[in-house]
Amino acid sequence: MKPVRSGAVEVGGTKVRCLVGSDPDHIVAQTRIPTGKPAETLTQILAFFQQEVSSGGPLAAIGIASFGPLELRRSHPRYGFITTSPKPGWSYVDMVGPVRRALGVPVGFDTDVNAAALGEGRWGAARGLGTFVYLTVGTGIGAGAVVEGRIIHGLGHPEMGHLSVPRQPGDHFVGHCPFHGTCLEGMASGAAIAARWGHPAEQLDGDKLRAAVRLEAAYLAAGLRNIVYTIAPQRIMIGGSVTGLPGLFPLVRTTLCEVLAGYPGLDEHAAGDFIVPPALGPLAGPAGALVLAQECH
Ligand code: ZN
Repeated sequence: MKPVRSGAVEVGGTKVRCLVGSDPDHIVAQTRIPTGKPAETLTQILAFFQQEVSSGGPLAAIGIASFGPLELRRSHPRYGFITTSPKPGWSYVDMVGPVRRALGVPVGFDTDVNAAALGEGRWGAARGLGTFVYLTVGTGIGAGAVVEGRIIHGLGHPEMGHLSVPRQPGDHFVGHCPFHGTCLEGMASGAAIAARWGHPAEQLDGDKLRAAVRLEAAYLAAGLRNIVYTIAPQRIMIGGSVTGLPGLFPLVRTTLCEVLAGYPGLDEHAAGDFIVPPALGPLAGPAGALVLAQECH
Protein backbone atom coordinates (compact mmCIF):
# COMPACT_ATOMS: atom_id res chain seq x y z
CA MET A 1 0.00 0.00 0.00
CA LYS A 2 1.29 3.46 -0.83
CA PRO A 3 1.94 5.45 2.38
CA VAL A 4 -0.45 8.31 3.04
CA ARG A 5 1.06 11.70 2.22
CA SER A 6 0.54 14.37 4.84
CA GLY A 7 1.86 17.88 5.25
CA ALA A 8 3.76 19.13 8.30
CA VAL A 9 4.61 22.67 9.36
CA GLU A 10 6.85 23.67 12.25
CA VAL A 11 6.57 27.39 12.93
CA GLY A 12 9.59 28.66 14.85
CA GLY A 13 10.63 32.12 15.96
CA THR A 14 13.10 32.56 13.12
CA LYS A 15 12.17 29.93 10.54
CA VAL A 16 9.32 27.75 9.37
CA ARG A 17 9.93 24.17 8.21
CA CYS A 18 7.39 22.64 5.85
CA LEU A 19 7.49 19.08 4.61
CA VAL A 20 5.43 16.45 2.86
CA GLY A 21 5.75 12.77 3.71
CA SER A 22 4.52 9.89 5.80
CA ASP A 23 7.29 9.50 8.42
CA PRO A 24 10.86 10.77 9.03
CA ASP A 25 12.29 8.17 6.61
CA HIS A 26 9.81 9.05 3.87
CA ILE A 27 9.96 12.79 3.35
CA VAL A 28 9.28 13.58 -0.28
CA ALA A 29 9.59 17.36 -0.19
CA GLN A 30 10.64 20.03 2.27
CA THR A 31 11.44 23.70 2.49
CA ARG A 32 12.48 26.35 4.98
CA ILE A 33 10.90 29.78 5.08
CA PRO A 34 12.14 32.69 7.24
CA THR A 35 9.52 33.67 9.84
CA GLY A 36 8.58 37.14 8.61
CA LYS A 37 5.29 38.97 9.04
CA PRO A 38 2.38 36.59 9.60
CA ALA A 39 0.50 37.23 6.34
CA GLU A 40 3.61 36.89 4.14
CA THR A 41 4.77 33.80 6.01
CA LEU A 42 1.37 32.11 5.71
CA THR A 43 1.27 32.93 1.99
CA GLN A 44 4.63 31.19 1.52
CA ILE A 45 3.52 28.16 3.55
CA LEU A 46 0.37 27.83 1.45
CA ALA A 47 2.32 28.27 -1.80
CA PHE A 48 4.65 25.37 -0.87
CA PHE A 49 1.77 22.98 -0.19
CA GLN A 50 -0.26 24.12 -3.22
CA GLN A 51 2.78 23.42 -5.40
CA GLU A 52 3.24 19.99 -3.79
CA VAL A 53 -0.43 19.12 -4.30
CA SER A 54 -0.33 20.12 -7.97
CA SER A 55 2.90 18.19 -8.64
CA GLY A 56 2.50 15.17 -6.34
CA GLY A 57 -1.20 14.75 -5.63
CA PRO A 58 -3.48 15.43 -2.68
CA LEU A 59 -2.51 15.49 0.98
CA ALA A 60 -4.56 13.61 3.58
CA ALA A 61 -4.11 16.31 6.22
CA ILE A 62 -1.70 18.93 7.49
CA GLY A 63 -0.25 19.23 11.01
CA ILE A 64 0.93 22.57 12.34
CA ALA A 65 3.35 22.69 15.29
CA SER A 66 3.87 26.27 16.41
CA PHE A 67 5.55 28.39 19.03
CA GLY A 68 2.95 29.49 21.55
CA PRO A 69 1.00 30.33 23.42
CA LEU A 70 -1.80 28.78 21.37
CA GLU A 71 -5.57 28.49 21.70
CA LEU A 72 -6.16 24.74 21.59
CA ARG A 73 -9.73 24.53 22.92
CA ARG A 74 -11.78 23.43 19.93
CA SER A 75 -14.93 25.12 21.20
CA HIS A 76 -13.20 28.48 21.53
CA PRO A 77 -13.81 31.14 18.82
CA ARG A 78 -10.06 31.60 18.53
CA TYR A 79 -9.23 27.88 18.23
CA GLY A 80 -6.18 27.54 16.00
CA PHE A 81 -4.72 30.95 16.84
CA ILE A 82 -1.37 31.95 18.28
CA THR A 83 -2.53 34.08 21.24
CA THR A 84 -0.46 36.50 23.36
CA SER A 85 2.88 35.93 21.69
CA PRO A 86 5.83 38.07 22.79
CA LYS A 87 6.96 37.87 19.13
CA PRO A 88 6.07 41.25 17.57
CA GLY A 89 3.11 41.08 15.16
CA TRP A 90 2.29 37.46 15.96
CA SER A 91 -0.35 37.89 18.66
CA TYR A 92 -3.83 36.65 17.71
CA VAL A 93 -2.79 35.20 14.36
CA ASP A 94 -5.09 32.50 12.95
CA MET A 95 -2.86 29.62 11.83
CA VAL A 96 -5.39 26.85 11.24
CA GLY A 97 -8.16 28.75 9.39
CA PRO A 98 -6.14 29.97 6.38
CA VAL A 99 -4.52 26.55 5.87
CA ARG A 100 -7.83 24.69 6.08
CA ARG A 101 -9.56 27.14 3.73
CA ALA A 102 -6.78 27.23 1.14
CA LEU A 103 -6.03 23.49 1.04
CA GLY A 104 -9.36 21.97 2.03
CA VAL A 105 -7.88 19.29 4.29
CA PRO A 106 -8.16 18.53 8.04
CA VAL A 107 -5.57 20.45 10.05
CA GLY A 108 -3.97 19.28 13.31
CA PHE A 109 -2.57 21.95 15.59
CA ASP A 110 -0.45 21.98 18.73
CA THR A 111 2.61 23.54 20.32
CA ASP A 112 6.04 22.87 18.83
CA VAL A 113 7.14 21.10 22.01
CA ASN A 114 4.00 18.97 22.32
CA ALA A 115 4.51 17.96 18.70
CA ALA A 116 8.19 17.17 19.28
CA ALA A 117 7.18 14.95 22.21
CA LEU A 118 4.70 13.14 19.94
CA GLY A 119 7.32 12.73 17.21
CA GLU A 120 9.86 11.27 19.64
CA GLY A 121 7.17 8.97 21.03
CA ARG A 122 6.21 7.66 17.57
CA TRP A 123 9.64 7.40 15.93
CA GLY A 124 12.37 8.55 18.33
CA ALA A 125 13.86 8.23 21.81
CA ALA A 126 10.53 7.68 23.61
CA ARG A 127 9.26 4.89 21.35
CA GLY A 128 7.38 2.31 23.39
CA LEU A 129 6.97 4.59 26.45
CA GLY A 130 3.68 6.05 27.69
CA THR A 131 4.78 9.03 29.79
CA PHE A 132 7.63 11.31 28.78
CA VAL A 133 8.69 14.93 28.39
CA TYR A 134 10.40 16.83 25.59
CA LEU A 135 12.21 19.98 26.74
CA THR A 136 13.72 22.44 24.31
CA VAL A 137 16.39 24.87 25.49
CA GLY A 138 17.02 27.40 22.77
CA THR A 139 16.31 31.13 22.64
CA GLY A 140 13.46 30.29 25.04
CA ILE A 141 12.56 27.18 27.01
CA GLY A 142 9.46 25.09 26.46
CA ALA A 143 8.38 21.56 27.23
CA GLY A 144 5.72 19.17 26.02
CA ALA A 145 4.51 16.18 27.98
CA VAL A 146 2.83 12.98 26.90
CA VAL A 147 1.10 11.26 29.81
CA GLU A 148 -0.16 7.72 29.30
CA GLY A 149 0.02 8.24 25.55
CA ARG A 150 -1.75 11.59 25.44
CA ILE A 151 -0.62 15.19 25.21
CA ILE A 152 -1.72 17.30 28.17
CA HIS A 153 -4.42 19.83 27.25
CA GLY A 154 -6.52 21.68 29.76
CA LEU A 155 -6.90 25.38 30.23
CA GLY A 156 -4.29 26.18 27.62
CA HIS A 157 -1.24 23.94 27.59
CA PRO A 158 1.60 23.37 30.05
CA GLU A 159 4.23 26.14 30.19
CA MET A 160 7.05 24.31 31.89
CA GLY A 161 9.63 26.82 30.67
CA HIS A 162 8.19 29.22 33.24
CA LEU A 163 8.56 26.99 36.30
CA SER A 164 10.15 28.64 39.32
CA VAL A 165 13.73 27.66 40.03
CA PRO A 166 15.85 28.64 43.06
CA ARG A 167 18.58 31.18 42.39
CA GLN A 168 21.97 29.50 42.40
CA PRO A 169 24.58 30.70 44.92
CA GLY A 170 26.79 33.42 43.46
CA ASP A 171 24.51 34.10 40.48
CA HIS A 172 23.32 37.70 40.51
CA PHE A 173 21.75 37.77 37.04
CA VAL A 174 18.45 39.68 37.05
CA GLY A 175 16.73 37.14 34.79
CA HIS A 176 15.53 37.38 31.23
CA CYS A 177 11.85 36.40 31.21
CA PRO A 178 9.66 39.41 30.32
CA PHE A 179 6.93 38.02 32.59
CA HIS A 180 8.71 36.49 35.58
CA GLY A 181 12.35 37.57 35.41
CA THR A 182 13.99 34.62 37.13
CA CYS A 183 11.90 31.61 36.03
CA LEU A 184 13.60 28.64 34.32
CA GLU A 185 13.49 30.37 30.92
CA GLY A 186 14.64 33.62 32.52
CA MET A 187 17.72 31.95 34.01
CA ALA A 188 18.64 29.14 31.60
CA SER A 189 17.48 29.97 28.06
CA GLY A 190 19.94 30.78 25.30
CA ALA A 191 18.85 34.43 25.57
CA ALA A 192 19.50 34.36 29.33
CA ILE A 193 22.98 32.87 28.81
CA ALA A 194 23.82 35.56 26.25
CA ALA A 195 22.56 38.32 28.56
CA ARG A 196 24.32 36.94 31.66
CA TRP A 197 27.73 36.30 30.08
CA GLY A 198 27.74 38.95 27.36
CA HIS A 199 28.18 36.30 24.64
CA PRO A 200 25.95 33.58 23.20
CA ALA A 201 26.60 30.07 24.53
CA GLU A 202 28.48 28.97 21.41
CA GLN A 203 31.01 31.81 21.78
CA LEU A 204 31.97 31.12 25.41
CA ASP A 205 35.29 29.47 26.22
CA GLY A 206 37.73 28.78 29.06
CA ASP A 207 36.65 29.40 32.65
CA LYS A 208 33.57 31.31 31.53
CA LEU A 209 32.38 28.32 29.50
CA ARG A 210 32.96 25.90 32.40
CA ALA A 211 31.09 28.20 34.80
CA ALA A 212 28.26 28.65 32.29
CA VAL A 213 27.86 24.88 31.83
CA ARG A 214 27.79 24.30 35.61
CA LEU A 215 25.18 27.01 36.10
CA GLU A 216 23.10 25.81 33.16
CA ALA A 217 23.10 22.25 34.51
CA ALA A 218 22.06 23.52 37.94
CA TYR A 219 19.08 25.50 36.62
CA LEU A 220 17.98 22.76 34.24
CA ALA A 221 18.22 20.16 37.03
CA ALA A 222 16.13 22.40 39.28
CA GLY A 223 13.46 22.70 36.57
CA LEU A 224 13.61 18.96 35.82
CA ARG A 225 13.14 18.15 39.51
CA ASN A 226 9.76 19.95 39.38
CA ILE A 227 8.87 18.07 36.19
CA VAL A 228 9.97 14.69 37.60
CA TYR A 229 7.87 15.19 40.74
CA THR A 230 4.81 16.46 38.86
CA ILE A 231 4.59 14.24 35.79
CA ALA A 232 6.65 11.14 36.74
CA PRO A 233 8.13 10.83 33.24
CA GLN A 234 9.82 7.59 32.17
CA ARG A 235 12.24 9.57 30.00
CA ILE A 236 13.12 13.21 29.36
CA MET A 237 14.45 14.38 26.01
CA ILE A 238 16.28 17.71 25.85
CA GLY A 239 16.78 19.42 22.51
CA GLY A 240 17.57 22.94 21.36
CA SER A 241 20.73 24.89 20.59
CA VAL A 242 21.89 25.22 24.22
CA THR A 243 22.33 21.43 24.49
CA GLY A 244 25.45 21.92 22.36
CA LEU A 245 27.27 23.15 25.50
CA PRO A 246 30.11 20.66 26.07
CA GLY A 247 29.46 18.12 28.81
CA LEU A 248 25.98 19.42 29.57
CA PHE A 249 24.10 16.10 29.47
CA PRO A 250 26.28 14.17 31.98
CA LEU A 251 26.28 17.17 34.31
CA VAL A 252 22.48 17.58 34.13
CA ARG A 253 22.10 13.86 34.93
CA THR A 254 24.32 13.98 38.02
CA THR A 255 22.96 17.34 39.20
CA LEU A 256 19.37 16.10 38.88
CA CYS A 257 20.26 13.10 41.07
CA GLU A 258 21.78 15.49 43.63
CA VAL A 259 18.67 17.67 43.80
CA LEU A 260 16.34 14.66 43.94
CA ALA A 261 18.41 13.75 47.03
CA GLY A 262 17.50 10.09 46.94
CA TYR A 263 13.74 10.67 46.89
CA PRO A 264 11.78 8.69 45.85
CA GLY A 265 14.83 6.47 45.30
CA LEU A 266 14.18 5.21 41.77
CA ASP A 267 17.31 3.82 40.13
CA GLU A 268 15.88 4.85 36.73
CA HIS A 269 16.42 8.54 37.54
CA ALA A 270 20.19 7.93 37.66
CA ALA A 271 20.33 5.82 34.52
CA GLY A 272 22.09 7.14 31.44
CA ASP A 273 18.93 6.82 29.34
CA PHE A 274 16.68 8.88 31.61
CA ILE A 275 17.78 12.24 30.15
CA VAL A 276 18.70 11.97 26.48
CA PRO A 277 18.95 14.10 23.35
CA PRO A 278 16.05 13.68 20.91
CA ALA A 279 16.74 10.75 18.57
CA LEU A 280 15.16 12.68 15.70
CA GLY A 281 17.30 15.76 16.38
CA PRO A 282 15.87 18.90 14.75
CA LEU A 283 13.34 16.73 12.90
CA ALA A 284 11.45 16.02 16.16
CA GLY A 285 9.11 19.00 15.71
CA PRO A 286 8.31 18.50 12.01
CA ALA A 287 7.91 14.75 12.61
CA GLY A 288 5.53 15.57 15.43
CA ALA A 289 3.56 17.80 13.06
CA LEU A 290 3.17 14.71 10.83
CA VAL A 291 1.73 12.87 13.85
CA LEU A 292 -0.68 15.78 14.40
CA ALA A 293 -1.74 15.46 10.74
CA GLN A 294 -2.20 11.72 10.97
CA GLU A 295 -4.26 11.95 14.16
CA CYS A 296 -6.58 14.79 13.20
CA HIS A 297 -8.86 12.89 10.85
ZN1 ZN B 1 8.83 33.15 32.74
